[in-house]
Amino acid sequence: MSANETAVTAFNATHNESLFRCDIKIPSYLMAIVVGDLEYRSLGRRVGVITEPSQMDRVASELDTLENLLDTAEAYLTPYIWGNYTVVVLPPSFPFGGMENPLLTFASPTIIVGDKSQVYVATHEIAHSWTGNDVTCRDWENFWLNEGFTVFSERKVSAQLFGADFAKVEALLGNSTLWSDMNTYGLSSTYSSIHPILEGDTPDAAFSTVPYEKGFQLLYFMESLVGEDTFRAFLQTYILKYSQDSITTIELRQTWE
Ligand SMILES: [Zn+2]
Repeated sequence: MSANETAVTAFNATHNESLFRCDIKIPSYLMAIVVGDLEYRSLGRRVGVITEPSQMDRVASELDTLENLLDTAEAYLTPYIWGNYTVVVLPPSFPFGGMENPLLTFASPTIIVGDKSQVYVATHEIAHSWTGNDVTCRDWENFWLNEGFTVFSERKVSAQLFGADFAKVEALLGNSTLWSDMNTYGLSSTYSSIHPILEGDTPDAAFSTVPYEKGFQLLYFMESLVGEDTFRAFLQTYILKYSQDSITTIELRQTWE
């Protein structure tokens, strides 16, 4: 459950009753429950993983840097407000790489490859704890506020832990995919921009790497204008100002100006 567990009591001879509580306002599109033959293993002070018992050793060793990822994101951004952070690695039927439900990231088993090369997905979902779950886009035309910022923070963490070149290669690969997606939509389509006009269409039709990578590139450009330290201070101000709020690009622009 994407909330903090507050109590577990015996319900009857075979079942327990668990209570969950989330005092932090969350956007209603992201609340999730996972049910199955699952167990929890702590991987540090406030992080852990949940998966099927047969997968636990593989999953726990692949994600043994989770605490470090969270600490590094927190050191770059602002204090982590959610309490605990858990990744649930689901059976192979789960179709998405990761989904950032508050406190509990749902992850595809395809991120567990044995060489930690997909751990950046966990970094991305952790970064959503600030942008996406705490500061949230008001609607899907402002989706880049969730994803662009999260990719930006994700690459800051990756640069810190794996070197600046690692993050630059990810940005370069992201740029290739961005260009391919823009060509698919057509360069004059609003879906190739970070302000898509969705009226009359489903948000799924506009879903691509554009809000992720073009959003990242805009923030990277903005950082280049003021320098890394000033930009980081701006990011922290933005997050604290709009904590537990849903906003549009207008609020971002006002804060920036
Ligand atoms: Zn994301």
